[in-house]
Amino acid sequence: MRTLDREVVIIGSGPAGLTAAIYSARANLKPLLIDAPPDAARQTTPGGQLMITTDVENYPGFPEGIQGPDLMAAFRKQAERFGTEFLEEWITEVDLSERPFQLQTADYVINAQTLIIATGASAKWLGIPGEAKVPKGFGGNGVSACATCDGPLPGFRNKDLVVVGGGDTAMEEATFLTRYASKVNLVHRRDKLRASKIMQDKAFQNPKIEFIWNTGVQEILGEPETGVTGVRLRHLHTNKEHLLPTAGVFIAIGHKPNTDLFKGQLDMDEVGYIKTSHRSTATNVPGVFACGDVQDATYRQAVTAAGTGCMAALDAERFLDHLPVLMPGGDEVTMEGEHITADHQAIIEPDGSMVSNHPETLAAQKK
Ligand SMILES: Cc1cc2nc3c(=O)[nH]c(=O)nc-3n(C[C@H](O)[C@H](O)[C@H](O)COP(=O)(O)OP(=O)(O)OC[C@H]3O[C@@H](n4cnc5c(N)ncnc54)[C@H](O)[C@@H]3O)c2cc1C
Repeated sequence: MRTLDREVVIIGSGPAGLTAAIYSARANLKPLLIDAPPDAARQTTPGGQLMITTDVENYPGFPEGIQGPDLMAAFRKQAERFGTEFLEEWITEVDLSERPFQLQTADYVINAQTLIIATGASAKWLGIPGEAKVPKGFGGNGVSACATCDGPLPGFRNKDLVVVGGGDTAMEEATFLTRYASKVNLVHRRDKLRASKIMQDKAFQNPKIEFIWNTGVQEILGEPETGVTGVRLRHLHTNKEHLLPTAGVFIAIGHKPNTDLFKGQLDMDEVGYIKTSHRSTATNVPGVFACGDVQDATYRQAVTAAGTGCMAALDAERFLDHLPVLMPGGDEVTMEGEHITADHQAIIEPDGSMVSNHPETLAAQKK
Protein backbone atom coordinates (compact mmCIF):
# COMPACT_ATOMS: atom_id res chain seq x y z
CA MET A 1 0.00 0.00 0.00
CA ARG A 2 1.25 3.48 -0.86
CA THR A 3 0.24 6.49 1.21
CA LEU A 4 -0.53 9.88 -0.34
CA ASP A 5 -1.16 13.09 1.63
CA ARG A 6 -3.01 15.83 -0.24
CA GLU A 7 -4.77 19.12 0.56
CA VAL A 8 -7.56 18.66 -2.00
CA VAL A 9 -8.79 15.28 -3.19
CA ILE A 10 -11.57 15.07 -5.78
CA ILE A 11 -13.49 11.87 -6.55
CA GLY A 12 -14.98 11.67 -10.06
CA SER A 13 -13.87 13.03 -13.44
CA GLY A 14 -17.20 14.13 -14.90
CA PRO A 15 -17.92 17.84 -15.56
CA ALA A 16 -18.19 18.54 -11.79
CA GLY A 17 -14.94 16.84 -10.72
CA LEU A 18 -12.88 18.21 -13.62
CA THR A 19 -14.15 21.76 -13.10
CA ALA A 20 -13.29 21.50 -9.40
CA ALA A 21 -9.83 20.29 -10.52
CA ILE A 22 -9.34 23.22 -12.93
CA TYR A 23 -10.19 25.76 -10.22
CA SER A 24 -8.19 24.17 -7.40
CA ALA A 25 -5.17 23.51 -9.65
CA ARG A 26 -5.17 27.15 -10.75
CA ALA A 27 -5.28 28.10 -7.05
CA ASN A 28 -2.05 26.10 -6.58
CA LEU A 29 -3.72 23.54 -4.36
CA LYS A 30 -2.28 20.63 -6.42
CA PRO A 31 -5.47 18.57 -6.44
CA LEU A 32 -5.47 14.81 -6.74
CA LEU A 33 -8.41 13.61 -8.87
CA ILE A 34 -9.37 9.97 -8.48
CA ASP A 35 -11.72 8.25 -10.90
CA ALA A 36 -12.87 4.68 -11.37
CA PRO A 37 -11.42 2.73 -14.31
CA PRO A 38 -13.65 1.82 -17.27
CA ASP A 39 -16.04 -0.92 -16.18
CA ALA A 40 -19.00 -1.76 -18.43
CA ALA A 41 -20.90 -3.73 -15.78
CA ARG A 42 -20.69 -0.93 -13.21
CA GLN A 43 -21.31 1.75 -15.90
CA THR A 44 -18.14 3.72 -15.12
CA THR A 45 -15.90 5.55 -17.57
CA PRO A 46 -13.36 8.23 -16.70
CA GLY A 47 -15.02 11.40 -17.95
CA GLY A 48 -18.40 10.41 -16.50
CA GLN A 49 -21.83 10.19 -18.06
CA LEU A 50 -21.10 12.36 -21.12
CA MET A 51 -18.70 9.68 -22.34
CA ILE A 52 -21.70 7.55 -23.28
CA THR A 53 -23.47 10.16 -25.37
CA THR A 54 -22.93 11.61 -28.82
CA ASP A 55 -24.18 15.15 -29.54
CA VAL A 56 -24.14 17.66 -26.69
CA GLU A 57 -25.97 20.68 -28.06
CA ASN A 58 -26.63 22.65 -24.89
CA TYR A 59 -23.18 23.13 -23.37
CA PRO A 60 -22.46 26.86 -23.81
CA GLY A 61 -19.55 27.81 -26.02
CA PHE A 62 -20.14 25.22 -28.76
CA PRO A 63 -22.63 26.76 -31.20
CA GLU A 64 -22.47 23.72 -33.49
CA GLY A 65 -22.63 21.24 -30.58
CA ILE A 66 -19.86 18.88 -29.52
CA GLN A 67 -19.54 15.13 -29.02
CA GLY A 68 -19.70 14.16 -25.32
CA PRO A 69 -16.29 12.38 -25.26
CA ASP A 70 -14.64 15.36 -27.06
CA LEU A 71 -16.06 17.78 -24.49
CA MET A 72 -14.75 15.68 -21.61
CA ALA A 73 -11.32 15.30 -23.27
CA ALA A 74 -11.15 19.13 -23.42
CA PHE A 75 -12.14 19.44 -19.73
CA ARG A 76 -9.42 16.95 -18.81
CA LYS A 77 -6.75 18.67 -20.90
CA GLN A 78 -7.56 21.96 -19.17
CA ALA A 79 -7.31 20.33 -15.72
CA GLU A 80 -3.98 18.72 -16.72
CA ARG A 81 -2.64 22.05 -17.97
CA PHE A 82 -2.73 23.49 -14.45
CA GLY A 83 -1.14 20.45 -12.83
CA THR A 84 -4.00 18.20 -11.67
CA GLU A 85 -2.70 14.80 -10.60
CA PHE A 86 -4.86 11.88 -11.84
CA LEU A 87 -5.26 8.43 -10.32
CA GLU A 88 -7.43 5.73 -11.93
CA GLU A 89 -8.67 3.63 -9.00
CA TRP A 90 -11.94 2.65 -7.35
CA ILE A 91 -12.37 4.24 -3.96
CA THR A 92 -13.49 1.31 -1.86
CA GLU A 93 -13.68 2.84 1.62
CA VAL A 94 -13.77 6.28 3.20
CA ASP A 95 -13.42 7.43 6.78
CA LEU A 96 -14.77 10.96 7.28
CA SER A 97 -14.80 10.83 11.09
CA GLU A 98 -11.73 13.08 11.43
CA ARG A 99 -9.40 15.21 9.31
CA PRO A 100 -7.36 14.30 7.38
CA PHE A 101 -10.11 12.16 5.86
CA GLN A 102 -8.91 8.73 4.82
CA LEU A 103 -9.73 7.11 1.47
CA GLN A 104 -8.74 3.62 0.40
CA THR A 105 -8.28 2.05 -3.01
CA ALA A 106 -6.82 -1.38 -3.84
CA ASP A 107 -3.30 0.11 -3.90
CA TYR A 108 -3.40 3.38 -1.99
CA VAL A 109 -4.30 4.98 1.31
CA ILE A 110 -5.02 8.67 0.69
CA ASN A 111 -5.15 11.30 3.42
CA ALA A 112 -7.14 14.37 2.40
CA GLN A 113 -7.42 17.70 4.22
CA THR A 114 -10.48 18.50 2.09
CA LEU A 115 -12.57 16.15 -0.02
CA ILE A 116 -14.69 17.08 -3.04
CA ILE A 117 -17.22 14.39 -3.94
CA ALA A 118 -18.24 14.41 -7.62
CA THR A 119 -19.22 10.77 -8.08
CA GLY A 120 -22.33 11.59 -10.14
CA ALA A 121 -25.44 9.54 -10.55
CA SER A 122 -26.40 6.67 -12.80
CA ALA A 123 -29.62 6.45 -14.75
CA LYS A 124 -31.56 3.28 -13.98
CA TRP A 125 -32.05 1.05 -17.01
CA LEU A 126 -34.53 -1.71 -17.79
CA GLY A 127 -31.88 -4.26 -18.82
CA ILE A 128 -33.78 -5.28 -21.99
CA PRO A 129 -32.38 -6.23 -25.43
CA GLY A 130 -31.64 -3.22 -27.63
CA GLU A 131 -31.13 -0.83 -24.71
CA ALA A 132 -27.32 -1.08 -24.37
CA LYS A 133 -25.01 1.57 -25.73
CA VAL A 134 -24.07 1.44 -29.44
CA PRO A 135 -22.74 -0.90 -30.92
CA LYS A 136 -24.34 -3.53 -28.65
CA GLY A 137 -27.74 -1.81 -28.72
CA PHE A 138 -29.30 1.54 -29.59
CA GLY A 139 -28.13 3.56 -26.57
CA GLY A 140 -27.16 6.93 -28.10
CA ASN A 141 -28.88 5.97 -31.39
CA GLY A 142 -32.52 6.41 -30.37
CA VAL A 143 -32.41 5.25 -26.73
CA SER A 144 -31.83 7.89 -24.06
CA ALA A 145 -32.28 8.50 -20.34
CA CYS A 146 -32.35 12.29 -20.64
CA ALA A 147 -35.08 14.15 -22.56
CA THR A 148 -33.62 17.60 -21.78
CA CYS A 149 -30.33 16.43 -23.29
CA ASP A 150 -31.51 14.49 -26.32
CA GLY A 151 -35.16 15.46 -26.97
CA PRO A 152 -34.34 18.44 -29.22
CA LEU A 153 -32.08 16.32 -31.50
CA PRO A 154 -33.29 16.25 -35.15
CA GLY A 155 -33.91 12.48 -35.09
CA PHE A 156 -36.74 12.92 -32.56
CA ARG A 157 -38.50 15.94 -34.07
CA ASN A 158 -42.05 15.41 -35.35
CA LYS A 159 -41.81 11.69 -34.59
CA ASP A 160 -43.76 9.33 -32.31
CA LEU A 161 -41.71 8.64 -29.17
CA VAL A 162 -41.96 6.30 -26.18
CA VAL A 163 -41.32 7.22 -22.55
CA VAL A 164 -41.08 4.41 -19.99
CA GLY A 165 -41.96 5.02 -16.33
CA GLY A 166 -44.68 6.20 -13.98
CA GLY A 167 -43.03 8.66 -11.60
CA ASP A 168 -42.37 12.40 -11.68
CA THR A 169 -39.34 11.94 -13.96
CA ALA A 170 -41.44 10.12 -16.57
CA MET A 171 -44.19 12.78 -16.48
CA GLU A 172 -41.61 15.53 -16.80
CA GLU A 173 -39.77 13.82 -19.66
CA ALA A 174 -43.03 13.06 -21.52
CA THR A 175 -44.35 16.60 -21.11
CA PHE A 176 -41.03 18.08 -22.24
CA LEU A 177 -40.86 15.82 -25.30
CA THR A 178 -44.28 16.95 -26.55
CA ARG A 179 -42.56 20.21 -27.58
CA TYR A 180 -40.81 18.28 -30.35
CA ALA A 181 -42.57 14.97 -30.87
CA SER A 182 -45.76 14.43 -32.85
CA LYS A 183 -46.92 12.07 -30.08
CA VAL A 184 -45.54 10.57 -26.86
CA ASN A 185 -46.64 7.08 -25.78
CA LEU A 186 -46.10 6.71 -22.06
CA VAL A 187 -45.66 3.04 -21.20
CA HIS A 188 -46.22 2.09 -17.56
CA ARG A 189 -46.22 -1.29 -15.81
CA ARG A 190 -49.20 -0.51 -13.57
CA ASP A 191 -52.66 1.05 -13.93
CA LYS A 192 -51.74 3.98 -11.67
CA LEU A 193 -48.94 6.51 -11.67
CA ARG A 194 -46.48 7.13 -8.82
CA ALA A 195 -46.01 10.74 -9.91
CA SER A 196 -47.24 13.66 -7.80
CA LYS A 197 -50.81 14.83 -8.56
CA ILE A 198 -49.73 18.07 -10.19
CA MET A 199 -47.38 16.24 -12.58
CA GLN A 200 -50.06 13.62 -13.38
CA ASP A 201 -52.65 16.32 -14.10
CA LYS A 202 -50.27 18.09 -16.43
CA ALA A 203 -49.56 14.90 -18.35
CA PHE A 204 -53.24 13.82 -18.50
CA GLN A 205 -54.24 17.21 -19.90
CA ASN A 206 -51.60 17.10 -22.62
CA PRO A 207 -53.31 15.95 -25.85
CA LYS A 208 -50.01 14.69 -27.28
CA ILE A 209 -49.47 12.13 -24.47
CA GLU A 210 -51.15 8.73 -24.69
CA PHE A 211 -50.92 6.29 -21.77
CA ILE A 212 -50.31 2.59 -22.33
CA TRP A 213 -51.13 0.92 -18.99
CA ASN A 214 -50.13 -2.41 -17.43
CA THR A 215 -47.51 -2.85 -20.10
CA GLY A 216 -43.78 -3.62 -20.12
CA VAL A 217 -41.23 -2.97 -22.85
CA GLN A 218 -39.68 -6.33 -23.77
CA GLU A 219 -37.26 -5.24 -26.48
CA ILE A 220 -36.12 -2.18 -28.42
CA LEU A 221 -35.96 -2.78 -32.17
CA GLY A 222 -34.10 -1.03 -34.96
CA GLU A 223 -31.21 -1.04 -37.39
CA PRO A 224 -27.71 0.41 -36.86
CA GLU A 225 -28.23 2.77 -39.83
CA THR A 226 -31.67 4.09 -38.90
CA GLY A 227 -31.53 3.75 -35.12
CA VAL A 228 -34.66 2.79 -33.18
CA THR A 229 -37.72 1.84 -35.23
CA GLY A 230 -40.01 0.30 -32.62
CA VAL A 231 -40.57 -1.49 -29.32
CA ARG A 232 -42.03 -4.89 -28.50
CA LEU A 233 -44.60 -4.42 -25.74
CA ARG A 234 -46.25 -7.00 -23.50
CA HIS A 235 -49.51 -6.48 -21.63
CA LEU A 236 -48.62 -7.73 -18.16
CA HIS A 237 -52.09 -9.18 -17.38
CA THR A 238 -52.90 -10.89 -20.70
CA ASN A 239 -49.25 -11.49 -21.80
CA LYS A 240 -50.31 -10.39 -25.30
CA GLU A 241 -47.48 -8.78 -27.25
CA HIS A 242 -47.54 -6.19 -29.98
CA LEU A 243 -45.08 -3.98 -31.85
CA LEU A 244 -45.29 -0.22 -31.51
CA PRO A 245 -43.38 1.85 -34.10
CA THR A 246 -41.30 4.65 -32.56
CA ALA A 247 -38.23 6.72 -33.41
CA GLY A 248 -37.02 6.99 -29.83
CA VAL A 249 -37.27 5.45 -26.39
CA PHE A 250 -36.70 7.53 -23.26
CA ILE A 251 -36.14 5.44 -20.14
CA ALA A 252 -37.40 7.49 -17.19
CA ILE A 253 -37.43 5.11 -14.24
CA GLY A 254 -35.17 7.21 -12.02
CA HIS A 255 -31.55 7.79 -11.15
CA LYS A 256 -29.31 6.38 -8.46
CA PRO A 257 -26.73 8.75 -6.99
CA ASN A 258 -23.33 7.08 -6.51
CA THR A 259 -23.20 7.56 -2.75
CA ASP A 260 -23.10 4.06 -1.23
CA LEU A 261 -19.52 4.73 -0.08
CA PHE A 262 -20.63 7.61 2.12
CA LYS A 263 -23.77 6.09 3.71
CA GLY A 264 -23.87 6.63 7.46
CA GLN A 265 -21.17 9.31 7.24
CA LEU A 266 -22.89 12.10 5.29
CA ASP A 267 -26.47 13.40 5.47
CA MET A 268 -28.49 12.31 2.43
CA ASP A 269 -32.10 12.53 1.28
CA GLU A 270 -34.31 9.43 1.08
CA VAL A 271 -33.03 8.54 -2.42
CA GLY A 272 -29.37 8.92 -1.43
CA TYR A 273 -28.50 12.36 -2.84
CA ILE A 274 -25.96 14.13 -0.59
CA LYS A 275 -27.42 17.12 1.23
CA THR A 276 -25.49 20.36 0.78
CA SER A 277 -26.22 23.86 1.95
CA HIS A 278 -27.09 24.85 -1.68
CA ARG A 279 -25.69 28.33 -1.08
CA SER A 280 -22.39 26.48 -0.76
CA THR A 281 -21.37 22.89 -1.53
CA ALA A 282 -20.66 22.07 2.13
CA THR A 283 -21.98 18.78 3.45
CA ASN A 284 -22.65 18.19 7.15
CA VAL A 285 -18.97 17.22 7.63
CA PRO A 286 -16.73 20.33 7.65
CA GLY A 287 -14.12 20.00 4.89
CA VAL A 288 -16.22 17.62 2.75
CA PHE A 289 -17.92 19.21 -0.27
CA ALA A 290 -20.23 17.68 -2.88
CA CYS A 291 -20.93 18.88 -6.42
CA GLY A 292 -22.65 17.77 -9.60
CA ASP A 293 -25.33 15.10 -9.97
CA VAL A 294 -24.40 13.42 -6.68
CA GLN A 295 -26.13 16.28 -4.83
CA ASP A 296 -28.60 17.43 -7.49
CA ALA A 297 -31.79 15.50 -8.12
CA THR A 298 -33.35 18.41 -10.00
CA TYR A 299 -31.20 19.80 -12.82
CA ARG A 300 -28.69 17.01 -13.66
CA GLN A 301 -26.99 18.85 -16.51
CA ALA A 302 -23.33 19.14 -17.49
CA VAL A 303 -23.35 22.91 -17.10
CA THR A 304 -24.90 22.82 -13.61
CA ALA A 305 -22.46 20.04 -12.62
CA ALA A 306 -19.57 22.21 -13.82
CA GLY A 307 -21.03 25.23 -11.99
CA THR A 308 -21.20 23.43 -8.66
CA GLY A 309 -17.73 21.95 -9.33
CA CYS A 310 -16.43 25.52 -9.44
CA MET A 311 -18.28 26.29 -6.18
CA ALA A 312 -16.80 23.21 -4.45
CA ALA A 313 -13.26 24.20 -5.40
CA LEU A 314 -13.78 27.75 -4.12
CA ASP A 315 -15.37 26.39 -0.91
CA ALA A 316 -12.43 24.02 -0.32
CA GLU A 317 -9.97 26.85 -1.00
CA ARG A 318 -11.79 29.09 1.49
CA PHE A 319 -11.79 26.33 4.10
CA LEU A 320 -8.03 25.73 3.67
CA ASP A 321 -7.51 29.50 4.02
CA HIS A 322 -9.07 29.24 7.52
CA LEU A 323 -12.13 31.23 6.41
CA PRO A 324 -15.69 30.29 7.46
CA VAL A 325 -17.73 28.09 5.07
CA LEU A 326 -21.54 28.07 5.04
CA MET A 327 -22.93 24.73 6.31
CA PRO A 328 -26.29 23.09 5.45
CA GLY A 329 -27.78 24.25 8.80
CA GLY A 330 -27.02 27.93 8.04
CA ASP A 331 -24.12 28.13 10.54
CA GLU A 332 -20.58 28.72 9.32
CA VAL A 333 -17.56 26.62 10.22
CA THR A 334 -13.82 27.20 10.04
CA MET A 335 -11.07 24.63 9.64
CA GLU A 336 -10.22 25.06 13.33
CA GLY A 337 -13.76 23.97 14.28
CA GLU A 338 -15.20 27.37 15.23
CA HIS A 339 -18.96 27.57 14.52
CA ILE A 340 -20.50 30.95 13.74
CA THR A 341 -24.19 30.67 14.56
CA ALA A 342 -26.74 31.06 11.75
CA ASP A 343 -27.91 34.41 13.20
CA HIS A 344 -24.27 35.60 13.18
CA GLN A 345 -24.59 36.62 16.85
CA ALA A 346 -22.10 34.21 18.44
CA ILE A 347 -19.08 31.99 17.82
CA ILE A 348 -18.94 28.55 19.42
CA GLU A 349 -15.29 27.65 20.00
CA PRO A 350 -14.01 24.08 19.44
CA ASP A 351 -14.04 23.53 23.28
CA GLY A 352 -17.78 24.40 23.37
CA SER A 353 -17.43 27.88 24.90
CA MET A 354 -19.47 30.66 23.31
CA VAL A 355 -18.27 34.19 22.57
CA SER A 356 -20.01 37.13 20.97
CA ASN A 357 -19.46 37.69 17.24
CA HIS A 358 -19.57 41.50 17.76
CA PRO A 359 -16.16 43.13 18.24
CA GLU A 360 -17.55 45.81 20.64
CA THR A 361 -19.38 43.31 22.86
CA LEU A 362 -16.31 41.11 22.87
CA ALA A 363 -14.08 44.05 23.87
CA ALA A 364 -16.51 45.01 26.68
CA GLN A 365 -16.63 41.38 27.92
CA LYS A 366 -12.83 41.25 28.07
CA LYS A 367 -12.61 44.48 30.19
C1 LIG B 1 -26.83 9.49 -22.17
C2 LIG B 1 -26.69 10.81 -21.49
C3 LIG B 1 -26.70 11.96 -22.25
C4 LIG B 1 -26.58 13.21 -21.62
N1 LIG B 1 -26.57 14.32 -22.41
C5 LIG B 1 -26.42 15.54 -21.84
C6 LIG B 1 -26.42 16.72 -22.62
O1 LIG B 1 -26.57 16.67 -23.85
N2 LIG B 1 -26.26 17.91 -21.98
C7 LIG B 1 -26.10 17.99 -20.61
O2 LIG B 1 -25.93 19.10 -20.09
N3 LIG B 1 -26.13 16.89 -19.84
C8 LIG B 1 -26.29 15.67 -20.41
N4 LIG B 1 -26.34 14.54 -19.64
C9 LIG B 1 -26.25 14.70 -18.17
C10 LIG B 1 -24.78 14.93 -17.77
O3 LIG B 1 -24.00 13.91 -18.35
C11 LIG B 1 -24.64 14.88 -16.25
O4 LIG B 1 -25.46 15.87 -15.67
C12 LIG B 1 -23.18 15.18 -15.84
O5 LIG B 1 -22.30 14.24 -16.45
C13 LIG B 1 -23.01 15.09 -14.34
O6 LIG B 1 -21.67 15.32 -14.07
P1 LIG B 1 -20.97 14.85 -12.72
O7 LIG B 1 -19.57 15.35 -12.81
O8 LIG B 1 -21.79 15.25 -11.56
O9 LIG B 1 -21.00 13.25 -12.71
P2 LIG B 1 -20.67 12.13 -13.78
O10 LIG B 1 -20.56 12.65 -15.14
O11 LIG B 1 -21.67 11.06 -13.51
O12 LIG B 1 -19.23 11.59 -13.32
C14 LIG B 1 -19.04 10.90 -12.11
C15 LIG B 1 -17.71 10.15 -12.13
O13 LIG B 1 -17.46 9.61 -10.81
C16 LIG B 1 -16.87 8.32 -10.93
N5 LIG B 1 -17.09 7.52 -9.71
C17 LIG B 1 -18.28 7.15 -9.16
N6 LIG B 1 -18.07 6.40 -8.04
C18 LIG B 1 -16.73 6.30 -7.89
C19 LIG B 1 -15.88 5.65 -6.92
N7 LIG B 1 -16.35 4.96 -5.88
N8 LIG B 1 -14.52 5.72 -7.07
C20 LIG B 1 -14.00 6.43 -8.10
N9 LIG B 1 -14.76 7.08 -9.04
C21 LIG B 1 -16.10 7.01 -8.94
C22 LIG B 1 -17.57 7.74 -12.16
O14 LIG B 1 -16.76 6.74 -12.74
C23 LIG B 1 -17.72 8.96 -13.09
O15 LIG B 1 -16.63 9.08 -13.96
C24 LIG B 1 -26.44 13.29 -20.22
C25 LIG B 1 -26.43 12.11 -19.44
C26 LIG B 1 -26.55 10.89 -20.07
C27 LIG B 1 -26.52 9.63 -19.23
